[in-house]
Amino acid sequence: MSANSSIEWTDATWNPVRGCTKISPGCKHCYAETFAERFRGVKGHPYEQGFDLRLVPEKLAEPLRWRTPKMIFVNSMSDLFHEEVPDDYIVAVTRVMVAANWHTYQVLTKRSRRLRNLLNSTLSFAAAQPHIWWGVSVEDRKHGVPRIEDLQNTDAAVRFLSVEPLLEDLGKLNLNGISWVIVGGESGPGARPMKKEWVVSVRNLCRHASVPFFFKQWGGVRKATSGRKLDGRTYDEFPRRVRHPVLATNECLSLAASIEVAFRRVDLVECLV
Ligand code: SF4
Repeated sequence: MSANSSIEWTDATWNPVRGCTKISPGCKHCYAETFAERFRGVKGHPYEQGFDLRLVPEKLAEPLRWRTPKMIFVNSMSDLFHEEVPDDYIVAVTRVMVAANWHTYQVLTKRSRRLRNLLNSTLSFAAAQPHIWWGVSVEDRKHGVPRIEDLQNTDAAVRFLSVEPLLEDLGKLNLNGISWVIVGGESGPGARPMKKEWVVSVRNLCRHASVPFFFKQWGGVRKATSGRKLDGRTYDEFPRRVRHPVLATNECLSLAASIEVAFRRVDLVECLV
């Protein structure tokens, strides 16, 4: 877990899974891949295996050790619903989120079909938890927009869209049941451009539907110079957060220990190889 994150819409990141594979055009310049591959082969580094997907059970219980409530981006360096992550492991990650409920979790995926199927079955115990926000990436019409319907077909209490990198005009989005929309342009070398009218269109749809809107950045090769103002102002809106008391330290430690023991089992360790 990283205690602090430079991502504008979160406080911290938690990565009980590392690595991923590309699935749609939004992945083209995946920052997680670029970061992870830099350390491939570096002995002892968390990304010694580059961007190869692997479970990290020793990280599972980390939110239980965080005493200060935080907004936590779950798997900033992976996709929890990747097809190679076993159902049991996704359930374990979700159980930690339910137990450590003084934090707010942001779970973002491009594998929306699996998110929908699990939230409607094995993960239904967590769907209604207002401190867990379930989101899908929406970068274009062909791959991104259909993910919205998958998300809407769940009982998630809080559903959000990460419209980043916004690659084209998305048209008239259906925002029924959506609690939050983030928009951002791609940044870094080779960044694909984002037109202002595409952003304005999403913002106006959010305004019309009374959905909180967060404008992350214009992006580009030097994102610091393009900034994050739209029509002369910033948009930093969030859904309402629920506040739960922090569990007593001894309860947290004993829960963390039991989770860690359970997920150091041979079958999951085998998945790491
Ligand atoms: S799904 Fe996310 S983490 Fe995985 S390759 Fe695509 S952008 Fe990267």
